[in-house]
Formats: sequence, C-alpha cells, structure tokens
Amino acid sequence: MFAMVYDGPGLPHFREVDDPTIRDSTDAVVRVDTATICGTDLHILRGDVPEVEPGRILGHEAVGTVTAVGSGVRTLRAGDRVLVSCISACGVCFSCRQARYGQCVGGGGWLLGHEIDGTHAESVRVPFADMSTHLIPSGISDEQMLMLADILPTSFEVGVRNGAVSPGDTVAIVGAGPIGLAAVMTARLYSPSHIVVIDIADARLAAARELGADSVLNSRRDDVTAIIAELTGGRGVDVTLEAVGVPETFELAIDLVRPGGHVANIGVHGASASLPLQDIWSRDLTITTGLVDTDSTPRLIELIRSARLDPTPLITHRFDMDEFTDAYDTFARAAETGALKVAVARAKKEER
Ligand SMILES: [Zn+2]
Ligand SMILES: [Zn+2]
Repeated sequence: MFAMVYDGPGLPHFREVDDPTIRDSTDAVVRVDTATICGTDLHILRGDVPEVEPGRILGHEAVGTVTAVGSGVRTLRAGDRVLVSCISACGVCFSCRQARYGQCVGGGGWLLGHEIDGTHAESVRVPFADMSTHLIPSGISDEQMLMLADILPTSFEVGVRNGAVSPGDTVAIVGAGPIGLAAVMTARLYSPSHIVVIDIADARLAAARELGADSVLNSRRDDVTAIIAELTGGRGVDVTLEAVGVPETFELAIDLVRPGGHVANIGVHGASASLPLQDIWSRDLTITTGLVDTDSTPRLIELIRSARLDPTPLITHRFDMDEFTDAYDTFARAAETGALKVAVARAKKEER
C-alpha cells in the first residue's frame, strides 16, 4: 500500500510500504476512508518529537472501515465504519479505570503515528480496537466525524472542561488555529456570555467570528490587556484557554484571567514558560494542563447526530489520497493557503 512516511527530519515521503496485519488478538485493521493532518504531524516532520523513528507512517486521525479483527476483538466486525481515535486505550490499567485513557500505562496512549504506524496510509493497524475506535452511526458522513478523532475532544476536554467553563462566563481563547476554533464551538455548549478570541492572523479571527466568537482581537494591533480589562470591568476573564503552545501565549493566558479563575492550557509546548508566582500566588487561580483522554467522544458523537454540533466548517481543503504530499504542503503553509483542517479521502472528491 501507499503511505505518508516520516523518513527523518524534513523528509516526508509518500511511498510504498507493507500492508498492516493483525499482530495482537485485540487488533483491528482499518481501511482509511478519510484522514486529516494535525499540527503535531508537522512537529514530527520538523524533528521536534525525537522519539518518533524514521520509517514511521504519520497520522493519528482518521475515519475508516474495518477489514480484519483479531480473535479477541468483541465489538467490531469487518465492514463496520469507525472513527479511529488519536488515543488507544487498553481499558483495564490504573489510568484507563479512571477514564484517563491518554495516560494509559497498559500499552495504550498516543500510539498512532507516534510509537506505531499511523493513519496516513491506505490501511492502519489499530491496537485495543474495542476501546480505540467508535462506531459511526448511520447518516453521519466521514467529514462530520473526522474532527472527533482529535481536535474536538481535545479542545472540549483539555480546554472547556478543564477550564470549567460555566453559563455566563467570559472566556478568552488565545489562538485561533483549529484547536482554538474547536474550543469556540465546544465552549458555546455551556452558554458563556462572551467569547473573545485572540490571534495574529485576521483570516483565522474571521473564522472565529463565523463559528461564534463574540469579539476578536489581533494582538499585533490591539492592546489586548486593556481591552479585556474594559470588557470585564477590570476583573479579567473567568476562563482563559491557551491554544497556541508558546511561552508568550501561556503568559498572556495567565495575565488575562480574574482572581479565582481558570487557565486551561491546551497548547503543545516545546519550551519553558515563566510563571510569575510572586504576582499570582494570592489570586486563587486554577491552572490545568492535559493530553486528551477521548472519554467525551461518545457524547460528542451524540451532539453531531442531533445536529447540536457541526465541525465540518473547519475543513477548508480536500484532497484525494494520492495527493497526500499536496495536502501536507497546503496544511504546512496555512498562513498563505488559509488552511484550517484538510480532508484526505479515498473516494474521489466529486463523489463527496
Ligand atoms: Zn493531533
Ligand atoms: Zn490502559
């Protein structure tokens, strides 16, 4: 089969590889019908995730059709349409018993496109298949489901839920990339009174507006701290969600929150940020970090099925599977191309 392979820093190759097979009795092999690319895949390609070995097939987000199951798989059969979650879970370890699947210590966690071959291929082996996939209800399209592989549960669990967004809250979201935009969508589920989104790209701020942000600020032009002080009567916001992953934005998130408020870090960081404890020790802040667990995925599927949530506007570009290299290029040059999320599908574009 063909797959998008990380052959070392700066070396992505769409090339022929061996087909995946069942190795453990709890595995399934899933034919990838639609996949999407994550900012984390780009980090891997730049060599920022050194544990990823050259030769690894990239990708941890996909929707597909089961083609084979091991003898220990109980809930899936060949032909089932499934969401392949970015997190694999053994289901029985200390962490999984607490539904902290992202922290699985029984051989799961973030495996796909990281520790084992991923979803940017014609087929993928999914370990612990019962716990690591979700059946797709009939009537829901691949594209409606695709954002549930990673960014919707991530923004919801690590952002909105950890940040304890509550009715009437004023919420500041720092960063209007795909995760920040998904945070806008999922924060609205809790009826905050005001969502303000901060970024440096006007096109992304416009997307935030369309998805329901009440106001947007461009931190290159606007005096963010002063405007938010005015918006909140000088208090600061109830919740800040950090969705970028650089020291400056984390520090801004701390700066903007009111005493007693929550700062939920969603961003993937590669460097230390400073925490001005001398200023904030007395302010009753709750600061959270996290990797997604995907325990919310069944509920998010229900919200899509009941038309309470529609993540498809996040998909800006569509490619056929033999155009994987173009898809990576378009996604990597998001500032020029305006890409938010891309969908790479087996079916011809015209048929979708
Ligand atoms: Zn991801
Ligand atoms: Zn586990």
